[in-house]
Amino acid sequence: MTQYKALQIMRLMEANYPQAQTALQYNSIFELLLAVMLSAQTTDRQVNDTTAVLFPLVREGPQAVLAMGQEHLEKLIRSCGLYRQKSHQIFKTCGILIEKFGGEVPGNLKDLLSLVGVGRKTANIILGTAFGIPAFAVDTHVMRVSRRLGLAVSEKLSGIEAELCALLPPACWMETHHRLIAHGRRICRARHPKCAACFLEDFCRFYAENRLIDTIGPADKAKEV
Ligand code: SF4
Repeated sequence: MTQYKALQIMRLMEANYPQAQTALQYNSIFELLLAVMLSAQTTDRQVNDTTAVLFPLVREGPQAVLAMGQEHLEKLIRSCGLYRQKSHQIFKTCGILIEKFGGEVPGNLKDLLSLVGVGRKTANIILGTAFGIPAFAVDTHVMRVSRRLGLAVSEKLSGIEAELCALLPPACWMETHHRLIAHGRRICRARHPKCAACFLEDFCRFYAENRLIDTIGPADKAKEV
């Protein structure tokens, strides 16, 4: 895809999703890290409901989580799902933050990736949202919508990240991350993309390639990219 066409898509996305920011609620970088770690395979609303109870108890930072004990943490985050795995990762990460980083969340990719349960997506969200460092976080929505539009072709998250970073200006990486997620949740869904209601159909590789399918039947549009 040309940069010109990509920027046309960005302009339309900006017009349709002007609020390009995380829905997660937090008051510190540490709280943002916890919220993102809790957000795996659950909704932002569920995370916010959970952190509304959790965060007042851990305002002191990672030492407060360790003082609370992993069992208590498990109970508090149970409604987020995968609570045993998440509590284990958060507990380990809090220990590392205290031992290696003076209780602070580090502001570089290498150190963030050394935390337990923190992969490239989470690390890039922290860098872009909390530190203002250009970073492109790629999740399943970003990957699917990017591939359908033709912004990227890789079948790997890391490949999609590299392609999007090469195609788009760093200043719009974080906002584009949020807009691609919003589009993936509302319109370009995995199983039933609402192409007839999509403001990007004139630019979309997937739509152009599957236009004929529209005349056959909506069930066939369920083909996932
Ligand atoms: S036209 Fe369809 S496949 Fe393309 S971005 Fe829009 S909803 Fe997704």
